Amino acid sequence: MQKTYSQKKYFIKTYGCQANVADSGTMAGMLEAVGFEKTDSLENADVFIVNTCSVRQKSEDKVYGLGKDIKTLHDKGYKKPFTIISGCMVGSVTGTRQRYEFEELRKKTSWADAYINPSQLSELPVILLGHKVLDDWAVSKINNDYTFGKQSNKTQAFVNISYGCDNFCTFCVVPYARGKEISRSESEILKEIKHLTQRGYKQVMLCGQNVNSWGLDATEKFSIRTGSNQKLPFAELLRKVAALEEIEKIDFISSNPFDFTQDLIDVLKTPKISNYLHIAVQSGNNEVLKKMNRRHTIEEFYTLIEKIKLVKPNIELGTDIIVGFPGETEEQFEDTVKLFEKITFNVAFISIYSPRKGTPAEKFYKDDIPLKEKRRRHERLTKIWKSSKVRKEK
Ligand code: SF4
Repeated sequence: MQKTYSQKKYFIKTYGCQANVADSGTMAGMLEAVGFEKTDSLENADVFIVNTCSVRQKSEDKVYGLGKDIKTLHDKGYKKPFTIISGCMVGSVTGTRQRYEFEELRKKTSWADAYINPSQLSELPVILLGHKVLDDWAVSKINNDYTFGKQSNKTQAFVNISYGCDNFCTFCVVPYARGKEISRSESEILKEIKHLTQRGYKQVMLCGQNVNSWGLDATEKFSIRTGSNQKLPFAELLRKVAALEEIEKIDFISSNPFDFTQDLIDVLKTPKISNYLHIAVQSGNNEVLKKMNRRHTIEEFYTLIEKIKLVKPNIELGTDIIVGFPGETEEQFEDTVKLFEKITFNVAFISIYSPRKGTPAEKFYKDDIPLKEKRRRHERLTKIWKSSKVRKEK
């Protein structure tokens, strides 16, 4: 019987934040540019990409657990797809800011055929060529400058404006996993957004680990963080995106309380800017914030929220909180409770602290709050948060 033509298929499993979602879109765009077709089933996949997250141990454990799925596939007689691990777990063991040895990851994921650092996604075709999944003619057809990322959301397009982070909050893996903070150029970002509007998108989400510092060099960041009233390039970028006629709504994530200048607060008034602002505070206590190497005090955070509410009184706020950080006393935790009593957050990601290998918090602070107590704090704060939301809705 004559063999019928069958298109090669890819399956990308994405864990973690919007940056990973956007990266998965970039890889999907490259694969589709050379004729691959999307599938959501491992059995049908020729190429399987696991785009990983390192923020919590749980996310890493899920990735290790995939070995079982691949073994089951083999036991059922299916062909194992060419498997690549990408994302923060790979970033954490390769590149210039390694948290631990690559060998450790390789041993735990021996079912993977290749690894790709999040800052080197453009090398995907070369990896596929090296393993004979693609031929050199097909690879020559992929031009990263002209290959558009695939959007997974039908109404809102995700556009990465910067990669990596240089802030080194002591609990966080991102500066290691995603490397040095690099801003994409304004013209690249605007061209991509214009292209997306031609495909029908009217809503855009600008993504980065700390979008406020987009376009700033180290000296400018220092000057802003030490009180200069310098205009923020990100505020100007928001104005330019808002000026695009086809764009109706702009969101951005993540914002931190530092680098949030008056200039940026003023831009929030622009009607096209979303009424939801996600701004990570992490703790309500200054001692804890200092140990976390956050660059703001809780008083500065309160003042910032007041200023924001002056320009946008009905703004909806979201935040990230860690409970049970090393050494967090009952009184310090109660300061976070007070924060939640004073400010109603529409969205709150409340996490229990868990040490992440190779971070300053893991190296220098003892993880001394028992899990039972961490859970109690998590439960108490969640309750306070939920009741504050109910009060607001009444
Ligand atoms: S600002 Fe802090 S918490 Fe956010 S990505 Fe950078 S290091 Fe992590």
